[in-house]
Amino acid sequence: MPITRRDFLTNVSKAAAGYPAMLALGMLKSSPAHAFKLEGNGNGKHIIILGAGLAGMASAYELTKLGYKCTILEARSRAGGRCWSVRRGTVSKENDLPGQTAAFDAGMYFNAGPSRIPHHHELTLHYCKELEVPVQVYNNINEATYYFAEGKGPLSNKKIRVREIHNDVRGYMAELLEKAIDNHAVDMNLTKEDGEKVIEYLRAEGGLDIDKLYRASDRRGYIEHPGAGEKEGKIADPHNLAEIIQSGLMEPDFYNVSEYVHELQMTMLQAVGGMDNIAKALEKKIPGMIQFGAEVTSVNNTENGVTIKYKNNTGNHELKGDLCICTIPLPVLSNIEHNFSSDVSRAIDYIPYISTSKIGLQFKRRFWEEDEQIYGGITHTNNELTQIFYPSNDYLGKKGVLIGYYNFNEKSNRVSGLNYLQRQQLALQKGRLIHPQYDSTFETSFSISWNKTPYNLGGWALYNAENRRTLYRALLPPEKNVYFTGEHMTYLNAWMAGAFESARKTVTDIHARVTEQRIAYPSSS
Ligand SMILES: Cc1cc2nc3c(=O)[nH]c(=O)nc-3n(C[C@H](O)[C@H](O)[C@H](O)COP(=O)(O)OP(=O)(O)OC[C@H]3O[C@@H](n4cnc5c(N)ncnc54)[C@H](O)[C@@H]3O)c2cc1C
Repeated sequence: MPITRRDFLTNVSKAAAGYPAMLALGMLKSSPAHAFKLEGNGNGKHIIILGAGLAGMASAYELTKLGYKCTILEARSRAGGRCWSVRRGTVSKENDLPGQTAAFDAGMYFNAGPSRIPHHHELTLHYCKELEVPVQVYNNINEATYYFAEGKGPLSNKKIRVREIHNDVRGYMAELLEKAIDNHAVDMNLTKEDGEKVIEYLRAEGGLDIDKLYRASDRRGYIEHPGAGEKEGKIADPHNLAEIIQSGLMEPDFYNVSEYVHELQMTMLQAVGGMDNIAKALEKKIPGMIQFGAEVTSVNNTENGVTIKYKNNTGNHELKGDLCICTIPLPVLSNIEHNFSSDVSRAIDYIPYISTSKIGLQFKRRFWEEDEQIYGGITHTNNELTQIFYPSNDYLGKKGVLIGYYNFNEKSNRVSGLNYLQRQQLALQKGRLIHPQYDSTFETSFSISWNKTPYNLGGWALYNAENRRTLYRALLPPEKNVYFTGEHMTYLNAWMAGAFESARKTVTDIHARVTEQRIAYPSSS
């Protein structure tokens, strides 16, 4: 049966490896910084902002510069929303589970939400610079990490260095294409000279030998390292292509997307000491504006403005403002009373969010560095773990925190159905298949399933071509006096840049309305 691109995209976004596959297909976009220089004054118009995540705080920060009065209602006792790092003493609670407190050592942390900034997310980096948040390189690509396929294939159930599979597959692909060109099986209108140049290129790219065959090279690493004297070093034979395929190592869980996909290409960056330092720096710029522990319960457009109802530990309250910026994630907003139109209401109810989970595991020894020479990067598996992230900070330190799983969709649903201890057991049981050192070095864990976390109920908005055209568009214009804002209102889902871009767009739209200027973000010029 032929499959349309749309069916394919829909299926792919549902697939277990949806996120990397979506990246591979360009469904999650990159973010340039656009000009943003607004003039005129908001003259104290009162803007009520729902949510003190990056979008809410960036909106308040920019609006305050323009003379608006901002009040942010934030349900949690902290700012930052999804921009959240877990440290000693961090507490969280998921629906149907008791609260948990992180018992990491002082100075240890992991990023439960964002962990990497693409070098071309200019706006995120702009705010890091403006807010004086130091950044460092995040090592997203590491050929020394592993592929671990659970299954029945001959290469299954053993850890294999990424560099072996990458170079073997690249080599075999080059050899196959070279043979096809030699046999005139490639219909690309190449002259004989051009064909020869392509073959030369393939020899270099794939590491083919003089006979244009792929045999092993040191690109895939050594089984005996070269050294002094007679120690020449030894390389192993390549893995057999059929065995690689039969073992599932060419399936989506193991696609080599990170090397190529725009969003994951090196250089990637992270905030030094935890990504939530970006949120903390933003919070400092808007002193006194956030009311914490204020859970919004209803949002109503009125004749001249908005009325927001919320509850906190002193009871139920009402706040009136001129305009409202609503950054509440849609699965949460869906359970909040409002008087929006039916189209808007339907969009809020039906735009799906990805299920995603992470666990931080603290170890008393950085065995991945000491024993296995892994400094940052990601090990990929096809089991529930999906990925193990090695820290790109404090190299050669004493202890460290790994992200023991970072998974999506069905795999995330499976772990989010477990309690904290069961998740830890699963992470350790599956992780020790790759790193037996887990047994003697594990100390403590902290897990999060975003789909079960109150005030988020999901990782990020998941769009396909269909709901982009319909549901998304219903939320683009303001609903009378309410502006929907946040990563879900952009093509930069799953990125902090989405929150920042969206904030700038809303600030521009509000300023255009209040000051009666014809301005837009991004400007069309
Ligand atoms: C697992 C994960 C990994 C990610 N990885 C990356 C990455 O590597 N790089 C990157 O750039 N981005 C990444 N992101 C995306 C990034 O974190 C988000 O795009 C961004 O933080 C969203 O900001 P926001 O302000 O739109 O939403 P949020 O941060 O969700 O803010 C919404 C706010 O509304 C509050 N709220 C909710 N309900 C109520 C209510 N009833 N009353 C009052 N307040 C309420 C919430 O508490 C929250 O503070 C990741 C996200 C996740 C979940």
